[in-house]
Amino acid sequence: MTHEPEDVAAVEAGAILTIDLGALAANWRRIAARCGEAECAAVVKADAYGVGVGPAARALWQAGARTFFVAHALGGRRLRAILPGATIYCLNGFAPGAVGQFLEHRLRPVIGSLEEAKEWALAALGRSDAQPAAVHLDTGMNRLGLEADELAQARALLDGVPLSLLMSHFASSEQVDDPFNTRQIETFESMRQAFPELPCSIANSSGAFLRRRPHYDLVRPGYALYGGNPTPGEANPMQSVVSLEARIVQTRFIEPGESVGYNAIWIAPERRRLATISLGYADGIPRALVGDNGAPGGEAVVAGVRCPFVGRVSMDLIVLDVTDAPRAERGDFVEILGPTISIDELGGRARTIGYEILTNLGRRYARVYRGG
Ligand SMILES: *Cc1c(COP(=O)(O)O)cnc(C)c1O
Repeated sequence: MTHEPEDVAAVEAGAILTIDLGALAANWRRIAARCGEAECAAVVKADAYGVGVGPAARALWQAGARTFFVAHALGGRRLRAILPGATIYCLNGFAPGAVGQFLEHRLRPVIGSLEEAKEWALAALGRSDAQPAAVHLDTGMNRLGLEADELAQARALLDGVPLSLLMSHFASSEQVDDPFNTRQIETFESMRQAFPELPCSIANSSGAFLRRRPHYDLVRPGYALYGGNPTPGEANPMQSVVSLEARIVQTRFIEPGESVGYNAIWIAPERRRLATISLGYADGIPRALVGDNGAPGGEAVVAGVRCPFVGRVSMDLIVLDVTDAPRAERGDFVEILGPTISIDELGGRARTIGYEILTNLGRRYARVYRGG
């Protein structure tokens, strides 16, 4: 991969993160088309899963998204500055005393407990500047949301308070055959009778791909918009959005019996050629991608060839065995994420999920936004 030498950011930084906003928009359109009549929202919590909420939210808005979900009021306030016309829900409800922020920035809380229902009703009743709220029903996560035996009380507390959405959240939608999905849909069906007039939403990215198509009135994809595979085990229907390339700092040969990196855990079995690249765990590359002799660790694509990480991932550096990619030279860029290595693959190699890889993407990359 080549970058123009006059690209200052690319020369200063050790690695380049490229976000394809065209692919992001295409992914949103793809899910929107799949969900027919249901509205396709966009979840942009955690700085749009690490890709940058400003460019991501603008691209999604341009693609047609009008309803957005963030986690906190802080994310809501930032998003409001980016998209004055958007409908913004805050998934984590609101902290005690935070109602003023919601009114000021036209944020909609997702009410997930009787305490929140009570506080919101007290503040919002009769105020024309209060946005309508969403109500979260707990269908099995036991994380947020009203329980079945709280519905009557919630209904009474929220009497006269404008509401716009009834929602719940899947625990295992990426596992299509997990009976927990069906149980949650059935629980949701029964609980929603307490608010029969409200539009409904239960599907995240993988939920939108379940065979039962539990799209209701609104779907809430996050991960799939950013290129994650909502159907693990099957081909990824989404376009890749994120690519990450790191620069080779130097190359060298290592003789048999010599070791690489901290704690000398990788020993060269024979004369090998190594390349040291310019990123590490401080950039969100998990230490679990350690390359020790035997166990599969991380890989990078060097001049079209997959090359393994050898030794420990350091804070700012990783060493690759590039013996099979003899063209690799100082200054070249290697693929860490991109057309060959997906976020799902990288997550799997690190014994975590692509979500964690995305949301930990480092802050010191040169960031390049394409398309959009
Ligand atoms: C994060 C989140 C989503 C989006 O989930 P993805 O799996 O990333 O599509 C939807 N709904 C809620 C309540 C969430 O917390």
